[in-house]
Amino acid sequence: MIAISGLVKSFGATRVLAGIDAEIPEGRIVALMGASGSGKSTLLRCLNGLETFDAGRIEIADFKLAAGAHEPALLQRLRCSVGMVFQDFQLFPHLSVLQNVTLAPRLVRARSAADANAEAHALLAAVGLADRGDARPHQLSGGQSQRVAIARALAQGSRVLLLDEPTSALDPELREEVREILRRVASGVHAPSADGEPARRTFVLVTHELRLARELADELWLLHQGCIIERGPPSELLVRPASDVGRDFLARALRGG
Ligand code: ADP
Ligand code: MG
Repeated sequence: MIAISGLVKSFGATRVLAGIDAEIPEGRIVALMGASGSGKSTLLRCLNGLETFDAGRIEIADFKLAAGAHEPALLQRLRCSVGMVFQDFQLFPHLSVLQNVTLAPRLVRARSAADANAEAHALLAAVGLADRGDARPHQLSGGQSQRVAIARALAQGSRVLLLDEPTSALDPELREEVREILRRVASGVHAPSADGEPARRTFVLVTHELRLARELADELWLLHQGCIIERGPPSELLVRPASDVGRDFLARALRGG
């Protein structure tokens, strides 16, 4: 489902991804952790073509990305399969909640208004916001905004969801509502997938929350200076890291730093 080989990315003289090799089978959930600046967001952005890269290749949801510029048409099709949820929600402020969710299906997937609305209503109900379709983003709490962003990503028809610190901009008391939605979407039970696709999606989840990684992820990758320095089931990696970097990361994370 996702295969990354030899991925290298620099910004100017700074090498941010220093040769990533990894695979994620369909339906698996990977938590991506690591210190700030280790390259987590850049890796996610490369996966959905928001960022170009210098060497290597990425296969994702039947698409192949190579180094250098991507074709706009390819990117548009890619975005129908790969959804992204950002730390700061990035809702369209001038559109209603419902319009935020229906925009991509209508533009990119050429859905009729009726179909897109029906699907959006189902997705908003699945994230507990059935009655907020007419609200504007500024009328929502952070937790509600992120739930809309998750519904929007799912409405794109996403077989793959990329989530970049989806709970970290939220007040602690609002995090649980987003965690709960992520659990539901991860289990495939409550959030219907567009086009009747297989319910279990592939997730790549960047998070600093050990608890979320432990609850959701099948596998954890620890990124350090642009390399995956450790990988394994969270139940092992978060208990007995194998490397000094892993032990240091865990100690800091347990201190909440
Ligand atoms: P993380 O998400 O793990 O905190 P990022 O992938 O955002 O890390 O950033 C990794 C490194 O790349 C950082 O040193 C950051 O300053 C740098 N970086 C990220 N995006 C850009 C950019 N657009 N231009 C220049 N440097 C960038
Ligand atoms: Mg980041």
